[in-house]
Order: sequence, then C-alpha cells, then structure tokens
Amino acid sequence: MPRRTAATLATSGEVLRLIRTGEAVTRADLGRVTGLSRPAVQLRVGELLERGLVVERTDAPSTGGRPPVRLEFNAAGGVVLVAALGASRTRVAVCDLAGKELAGREFSMDVEEGPDVALPLLMDTWDELLGDRPRSMIRGVGMGVPATVEFAEGRTESARVMASWTGVVIPPIIRERFPVPVLVDNDVNVLAIGEHRGVYPDLGDLMFVKVSTRIGAGVIAGGDILRGALGAAGEIGHIPVLDGGGVLCRCGNTDCVDSVASGTALLRDLRALGKDVKTIADVTALVRAGDAETMATVREAGRRIGEVLAGAVNIINPAVVVLGGDVAEAFGPLVSSIREVVYRRSTALATRRLRIEPSRLGAGAGITGCAVMVLDHVLSPEAVDESMTLTSLRPDALIARPAG
Ligand SMILES: [Zn+2]
Repeated sequence: MPRRTAATLATSGEVLRLIRTGEAVTRADLGRVTGLSRPAVQLRVGELLERGLVVERTDAPSTGGRPPVRLEFNAAGGVVLVAALGASRTRVAVCDLAGKELAGREFSMDVEEGPDVALPLLMDTWDELLGDRPRSMIRGVGMGVPATVEFAEGRTESARVMASWTGVVIPPIIRERFPVPVLVDNDVNVLAIGEHRGVYPDLGDLMFVKVSTRIGAGVIAGGDILRGALGAAGEIGHIPVLDGGGVLCRCGNTDCVDSVASGTALLRDLRALGKDVKTIADVTALVRAGDAETMATVREAGRRIGEVLAGAVNIINPAVVVLGGDVAEAFGPLVSSIREVVYRRSTALATRRLRIEPSRLGAGAGITGCAVMVLDHVLSPEAVDESMTLTSLRPDALIARPAG
C-alpha cells in the first residue's frame, strides 16, 4: 500500500511521476502516498497545472456527493522533436509528451555531406512539422545517429558511415535554434529503446541486433539502456570471428564480424563470386530465386553473426534477442543460421528461455526510441524540478534549461 516518504519531502517532479504512472491520481492519494500536507500537495499540483503538465478531470464515477477531481498527465502539454538518422533513410517527427507522433516525415538525406548540411535540414524540417505550434511547447530533442556517440556530450566518434561527423558535438548546434535539452545516441541504441518500450515493456533484458550496412547491437539491461562508461557498449560489430580468413576491417583489425558478415561484406563476397548485386534488394531477389551460392553466402554470414551473438548472450543473458535492420528483415536463411548457432553455442541457462525474434516495429522503432529517450530525461523528477526552479526565477521561462 501507499509508501510514506515524509523523511524526504516529495518534490513537484516526484508528484508528476506519481500522476504519470497512475500511482496517485487525486490530491488525497498524493497526500497519502507522499506524506505531504494538504497545502504542500496543493502547491505542487498548482505548479504542475500552471506548467500544463497535468490537467484536472471531474468525470470520475462518484459514490454520491461531489466527485473527486482526478489528476491526469497532460500529454498535449508540450512536444519533443525527434530524428532517426540513417545512412539510407532519415525519419523526423514531432511527438507529444506520451511519445505519440503528431507529425512526421521520412526522406533520403546524404548524411555523408556532414553536419553543416544535415543539421540545418533537420531543424528546418522540425520547424515545418511544428507548424504554428508555439515554440515554447518544445521540451526537448532526441536524436539517433549512425555513429558511436559519447553519450554525455553528444559527441560522435569513429563514425561507422559518417566520416565527416567524427568528433562533432551535436547538442550545442541544435540548441542555438531550439534551446532545450538535446540527447543524442547511436542509431542501434535508440532502436533497442524503441523496440523495448514499444513491444517488450515488461522484459528487463533485451538485446537488439541491427544487421544492415553495418552490424551493431543495443542492450537493455535491468530495464535501462546499457551505455557503458562512455557510450560504446553493444559495439559487437568489431568482435572478431574464428577463422575469418584475415579480412581487413575498416577499424584496422582483421576478421571483425562486421567485415565478414555485414550487408557491405555480403555484397563484396557475392560480387567476388560474379553476382551482379548493387544493393541488398538485389541480394534479396537472388535469395528468393533460390540461387545456391547466394544462399550459402547468406547462411555463412548468419553463422558468423551467431558465433559473436552466442558470446554476447552468455555475458548479458537477455530474455529476447531482437533481429532488425534491412539485411535481417530480408533474409530468412540468415536469421535461421543465427538462431541455430546461438542456441548451440550459448550456455544452457542463458538459452533456456531465450527468444530470438524479428523486429516488430522495424524502422519505426527509431522514432519511438528517440522520443522515449528524451521524454525519460525531460520528465524525470530531477529535470522537472530544475525547470520549476527556473520558472519561479523567471516567470517567462517555460522551457527547461539545456542539460550540461
Ligand atoms: Zn573492425
């Protein structure tokens, strides 16, 4: 039943959390759960109402007399700007505070042209998608980029496909135009967050593996994304395979799984066999046609990926491994090879209840993941409290100060 935390007084941010999660939906509930006095509850709820984060409803069923006023989180009380950048497709959206897409667009953008071209284009697109919504409604920005990201700084490192982005610190560039908290993570982490929250919210441990031009993974451990010390966790692409034949990887090592089993590697190996393949779609066509050499090459790639995943499964013990990315989505033989090797090579306990599933959200997981990432940050009790302090200092300040 209600827990009393009178020792540490619940803040407005904590009160918002209780209302959002449905743990307390009336002022009386809030008093019971937090141990706050009635005036203290009133003060905090008043702040949240004023900021449009909470709305009152009086249509609750009544047992007679005046119905209690219910408090609800107001998803319409603000927006977040999100973008999932990809080497081939980029998706940009404006979402409400529940993460629902209000307006979105998908287009091809040559990310290789670098941040000077790509970031202004993204910001122009957000502006168009915002329409005549007041800019004061913007609470934060969440982005996924196809590069390793030093998360705390939003700095891209050793870009997998975006060499021109190496070392770029993205948040300050965005904040010049949208002065709100800006969170940037790598594309695979946001896919993992999106698939977890959108499809497996009740599972604490999930690994999302993207097999596309490159191979990468995002890990959810104990319900949260695992970033590691700087943000490099989950970079399984540069784990070597056994007997890879000495293929030089772009990272400088040899036989990384990325260099022998990614979409790029598949195209290279099939061309070496004399196949006329320019894109993954060409490979898909050969797989559909049952071309024996192509099928064998794809199965071999699956075994290589499975070999590396088996080790990762032993370390992480996920409840589900989700396979996404255009290569995984296109090739049944690849996925069945991965499954076979992972079940054979991982330990019995790690695979006892392990599920290996295709991505259900596909590319849409990127937008969901970006929205969840930034909303978890800007609606956290700490961030809400900080923005309240600022609001009381500057009554006209309706948006949170950028983090960091
Ligand atoms: Zn490598």
